[in-house]
Amino acid sequence: MPTKVEMEKIVSLCRRRGFIFPSSEIYGGLSSCWDYGPLGVELKRNIKQAWWRAVVQERDDMVGLDTSILMHPQTWAASGHLEEFADPLVECKSCHLRWRSDDLEGNNCPACGGELTESRLFNLMFKTSMGPIEEEANIVYLRPETAQGIFVNFQNVLNTTRKRLPFGIAQIGKAFRNEITTGNFIFRSREFEQMEIEFFVKPETDKKWFNYWLEERRDWYVKLGIKKESLRLRQHTKKELAHYARECYDIDYLFPMGWAELEGIANRGDFDLVQHAKYSGKSLNYLDEETKEHIIPYIIEPSAGVDRSALAFICDAYDEEPDKEEIRVLLHLHPTLAPIKVAVLPLSRREKLVTVAKKIYADLRRQWMVQYDDAQSIGRRYRRQDEIGTPLCVTIDFQSLEDEQVTIRERDSMNQIRVPINELKNTLQAKLRGERFDTQPLWTTKG
Ligand code: ATP
Repeated sequence: MPTKVEMEKIVSLCRRRGFIFPSSEIYGGLSSCWDYGPLGVELKRNIKQAWWRAVVQERDDMVGLDTSILMHPQTWAASGHLEEFADPLVECKSCHLRWRSDDLEGNNCPACGGELTESRLFNLMFKTSMGPIEEEANIVYLRPETAQGIFVNFQNVLNTTRKRLPFGIAQIGKAFRNEITTGNFIFRSREFEQMEIEFFVKPETDKKWFNYWLEERRDWYVKLGIKKESLRLRQHTKKELAHYARECYDIDYLFPMGWAELEGIANRGDFDLVQHAKYSGKSLNYLDEETKEHIIPYIIEPSAGVDRSALAFICDAYDEEPDKEEIRVLLHLHPTLAPIKVAVLPLSRREKLVTVAKKIYADLRRQWMVQYDDAQSIGRRYRRQDEIGTPLCVTIDFQSLEDEQVTIRERDSMNQIRVPINELKNTLQAKLRGERFDTQPLWTTKG
């Protein structure tokens, strides 16, 4: 059985080391909104970059897109969000807290035991108005998913890229949902980021592509270090299926609060293109050059959350080891994801050492995110880097002045090797790509 880490430890580490802060904290915070600090922003950028690389850069059959958050209001009529994107809400008559009724176990308020109102549907889209006059005609919505920006650009992409089926469009961007119950740190927030693929296929090939993407997406997490046993695939029951979906699986991760969705993979059939064609009056057909027939492609959608991925990667990487009198806390983050790739640590602040160390630092940072740390003992500095997941530390000592060699120390094994300064960059590169300090590769993917 995989082991779960306590959420308090994750929250505390993220706060203490500058990964994630509550939003607008000096004003008491804003419920379920989060700010990514200096390390969090790097982690998030690395996740997005790894995803983009895997699904766009390294593939012939995918292109990217970056569409606007505000869209024509008809989009949401066509997509079904105005009608369907709602959760059943009940309110406690005593303490006035609101709950999702399908989440509740009993018939009373979980907070105070009070009587609950009848359940009513609550639409999760945030409304705002366009232009200076606030009136019904000017209502626009903050998008609750990035997918619709892709569907409405289907013809634009077809016309400008000459892609043929099967092909996909990928997008990373913010989405907003006025969730009734939030919580579990960044797992469910009201503002979050999604990484979505809409993969267009010939209708009769949908099953094959659906299975392909299930495998492909699960493998992506595993290649980036998530333990296989911390992931599972869960099929949606008929009752659970969204209005647009023919079939859907969640890739679940064993979060501190239990198994929960990390990414959803849905076969959306032709629902979206049919709906947008109907509401816009524009043809969203595809001409199959082999059969000369116009068809409406089916869509396979792998939809992931950047924030949930960040949480899963941190939880999975978190570890504690006994270390003399203390405990060594470390994040076994894959080098591709680690916010800082290398730390440069001069053994003392003596000028001669500092000159060499600063030169190395200046050289390395042109290639990677590198930290320079000369405060406190070397042991403490190693621990600080372990805790934020830095894979490699470079130590410059007095001997370095004589033999022009430095020590590289690896986070997980704590093994050390000594290398000539003029070979340092190449050696670091090889180590970050997975070359082991002994013989086996440490990590299996490119960084
Ligand atoms: P849940 O059932 O947990 O509310 P969902 O099925 O509504 O999620 P989807 O609509 O499938 O989620 O969205 C795709 C992905 O976007 C999710 O797998 C998740 O990673 C992310 N996501 C959705 N809602 C949120 C949220 N409120 N906060 C953070 N991430 C979210």
